Amino acid sequence: MADNLRERFDQYIGELFAPEDEILRSIKTEIERNGLPTISVQPYDGYLLAWLVRLAGVRKVVELGTLGGYSGTWIARALPDDGKLITLEKSSKHAAVARANFEKAGLSEKVEVREGDARDRLAELVDEGPFDMVFIDADKDSYVDYLEWAAGNLRSGGLVTAHNTYRGGNVLSPESDGDQMIVAFNQKLASDDRLDGFIIPIGDGMAVGVKK
Ligand code: SAH
Ligand code: MG
Repeated sequence: MADNLRERFDQYIGELFAPEDEILRSIKTEIERNGLPTISVQPYDGYLLAWLVRLAGVRKVVELGTLGGYSGTWIARALPDDGKLITLEKSSKHAAVARANFEKAGLSEKVEVREGDARDRLAELVDEGPFDMVFIDADKDSYVDYLEWAAGNLRSGGLVTAHNTYRGGNVLSPESDGDQMIVAFNQKLASDDRLDGFIIPIGDGMAVGVKK
């Protein structure tokens, strides 16, 4: 987003609240070393997710889109000892890198990486719900369906969160199908009767909805 002042405030918040430790830095190094895309959430996003976990007393989380386990590490660290993160990843290469990173972070007990298309894995997860939080950060083409799944599988007071809901600014003048999908996602978040939603205007937009 060509808004330098906003970026500077994001940076300021990140440095103030979300300094990375050695493990978080090494996860990013491993992501690069293994040739994975460098599209992990920013430290301030990770902190925000962790803060929401603590704030809402979240214990059971489903994440869509693991990549190298960077956001998952922020989330899992904020969970109580008996908490659990189930994170879904289509790429077996990404899943392998993430598993190694969770191991190194000492989070293997709390985190389960499930491979495959999130749509298939979500259908199976229905029996393991309801969940306290869903974090959506996988393929943008399915964001509306993912939101629908979250609305149906969160406990009352549970949170649905989603990354990239500004889509790099494209929600203001959507062109591609992916852009249109994020616009539809944001509209659904604003209007679905089961959810009390908002977009926290940090980074690329972090959507948060509370299940009524
Ligand atoms: N949440 C991560 C970044 C995720 S990037 C972090 O911030 O650390 C998006 C990830 O979603 C990629 O690893 C990609 O392989 C995965 N993905 C894309 N489409 C998917 C699908 N249909 N099901 C599961 N994972 C998918
Ligand atoms: Mg993202």
